[in-house]
Amino acid sequence: MSAAASARQILTQLHEVMAGRHHAQHKLDRVVDIIADSLTSEVCSIYLLRDGELELYATHGLNPDAVHVTRMGVGEGLTGTIAKNIETLNLAEAKAHPDFLYRPETGEDKFHSFAGVPIVYRERAVGVLCVQHVEPRRYEDVEIEALQTTAMVLSELIAHKELVDDENTIDLGEAPTECDVLEGLTLVKGLAAGQAVFHQPRVEIDQVMAEDVEAERQRVYRAFDKMRDQIDAMGREPEFGKGGEHVEVLETYKMFAYDEGWSRRINEAIDSGLTAEAAIERVQQRTRMRMREIDDPLLADRMHDLEDLSNRLLRIVSGQLGTAATQGLRRDSILFARNLGPAELLEYDRRRLKGVVLEEGSLTAHVVIVARAMGVPVLGRVPRVRSHVSEGDEVLVDADLGTVTLRPSQQLREAFDARFARSKERAAAYAELRDVEPFTRDGTRIIVMMNAGLRDDISALQLTGADGIGLFRTEFQFLVSSTLPARERQMRLYRDVLDSADGKPVIFRTVDIGGDKAVPYLANDIAEKDENPAMGWRALRLSLEREGLLKAQARALLEAAAGRQLSVMFPMVSEPWEFDAAKTIFEEQADFMRDRRRVLPETIEYGCMLEVPSLAEVLDVLLPKLSFISVGTNDLTQFLFAADRANPKLAERYDWLSPAILRFMARLAKQMVGSSVRIGVCGEMGGRRLEALALMGLGYTRFSITPAAVGPIKELVRKVSLPELTQQMQHWLLRPPPDMRAAIAAWAQNNGIEID
Ligand code: PEP
Ligand code: MG
Repeated sequence: MSAAASARQILTQLHEVMAGRHHAQHKLDRVVDIIADSLTSEVCSIYLLRDGELELYATHGLNPDAVHVTRMGVGEGLTGTIAKNIETLNLAEAKAHPDFLYRPETGEDKFHSFAGVPIVYRERAVGVLCVQHVEPRRYEDVEIEALQTTAMVLSELIAHKELVDDENTIDLGEAPTECDVLEGLTLVKGLAAGQAVFHQPRVEIDQVMAEDVEAERQRVYRAFDKMRDQIDAMGREPEFGKGGEHVEVLETYKMFAYDEGWSRRINEAIDSGLTAEAAIERVQQRTRMRMREIDDPLLADRMHDLEDLSNRLLRIVSGQLGTAATQGLRRDSILFARNLGPAELLEYDRRRLKGVVLEEGSLTAHVVIVARAMGVPVLGRVPRVRSHVSEGDEVLVDADLGTVTLRPSQQLREAFDARFARSKERAAAYAELRDVEPFTRDGTRIIVMMNAGLRDDISALQLTGADGIGLFRTEFQFLVSSTLPARERQMRLYRDVLDSADGKPVIFRTVDIGGDKAVPYLANDIAEKDENPAMGWRALRLSLEREGLLKAQARALLEAAAGRQLSVMFPMVSEPWEFDAAKTIFEEQADFMRDRRRVLPETIEYGCMLEVPSLAEVLDVLLPKLSFISVGTNDLTQFLFAADRANPKLAERYDWLSPAILRFMARLAKQMVGSSVRIGVCGEMGGRRLEALALMGLGYTRFSITPAAVGPIKELVRKVSLPELTQQMQHWLLRPPPDMRAAIAAWAQNNGIEID
């Protein structure tokens, strides 16, 4: 008999038992009889976890007096070992196993062979199902399969309280209480505490036994089709076109999505009488068990991909599609995900989202920039963190130290609270600098502006006392919309921003869509052509082609700034003519408005981002055309090093304080000497104290940075003596020390500058 047939035989009878109106213990007694009969086994027993121990709840073949008497610790004896390791044991001679433990009251001494499978609920063993024979023999795979399928059904029935009564309640899915500290890469500094929430919540399976096998099969077929469509569509999304890890993941997804073996196993599970959801879960459970035995990290990673895909299939089939954002956060939360897109992050309630922990992630990925702007600490590169944590676990994120603590002990919690209090004190000290103008010790005024992108960000202008908004990322409005924001909506946002800025300068950057900032309604324009979206059809390149887009934005900006100053900046300018073309579109719109006697901005100034290295080679051509330049070190670094900013594997490889970048930045600053064109830095680099120090030493005096960094950078400025710093930097540029970062840090320390 096949495994499916044998499981189906058991499940059909289980179905009948469950339909009866008997007492829970009676049902459980029937269950062991049915399994023993079906597998022609002399013994079948069920142990369940109660008060931390495995208790014999029902048996066919062992001494009935041992029921509710025999108890075993988790990890003790064969049963305890199965529960502890969540593994299957299949032994011809049980006594030969080193963990064998004899319990005389059960009368099991005459049985030689033993097979046991864990009863798993929410990835934890809540019991063990085992069979025994007098004759020493290993069980066949079909028998083990049938046992595993039955164990899965039992776990759901137990969870739904259909097989245990109130007196004998078991420890269901008790979360591990032990504390776990995992390390990751700091992506956004800060501390946060809250309860674990999965971005993709766990799918709840309500029904495990199928009423109509054929109907379940059709449901799975449809779900497979849908999932394959999604995976194929994913391949056309920009983030998957970029090479590196994303592409590998997609390739694996594809391989699994079309893998006959996987769909066949699910089909077999359906044959055995499971619902579509339970069948997917059953196969996933089996994979998980295999994963535990695999010691190869590469293979384990691939299995992790399969797990992701299996969850996707489960969500499709069950219709439980939303993310945790759709369901809403109910309390202070730490979000766990493999990775996130910026738009996905923006869907969360800012008041409740305290921190993010990612299995992937890199410093300048846009999701991280958004999190930084939201003031949400992010820890990235924590491998397989989702398998260590359960929803609702208490979590402490210390993104300053680069750790996440799961289920903290009292002691760790207290230590964390103390650090948290200190960091709040520091933040309060920075806040006190709000109205203090940042002058260096030698009297140079450093302009410290902030980056923004959403309406809510503007309040930070008052809170931090920043000198203005040096980079308003207009694409964020596009990212959070499901359709292209109409001109009127754009205009209202820009007008509100200018109103709230209350006379402080604001530089609006025209949309930088593409790269990792994908918007679904423009997806076809971007993705189909792009093998390499970061260097592809994005930002101004796209806006110049879709002139309507840029025209609408130009009108929205011109109208919003009616009667006041408008500063416009173009992203990803690679050659001067692109700047000219973009400016012309603005000027034409201004002419149009002038002709209709509309109120225009009092002054309009134009500038551009310098983030494509080629532009630095033609500065002399470009400078006479514009009023300001803002160096986008995020993109600049990725292009200088040919290192995708969103690729987690490259996240730590190249340093902003490397001689290559610093020399580039120094050359740029030198070329600007004597020009009336203002130059500043608006990439993430400028918001980090050591990096900002180096940039000041190279002659940069204008920064636009993430709001949380405004206080720390102002404080830094006030400790710097520029002549000494400049001299030191010049020296290092000529003769780079082996470790530039360490050298600058040591210099800072010697000069009483704290670098955290
Ligand atoms: C940059 O590239 O440095 C920059 C500021 O722009 P963005 O991060 O939005 O690409
Ligand atoms: Mg950029």
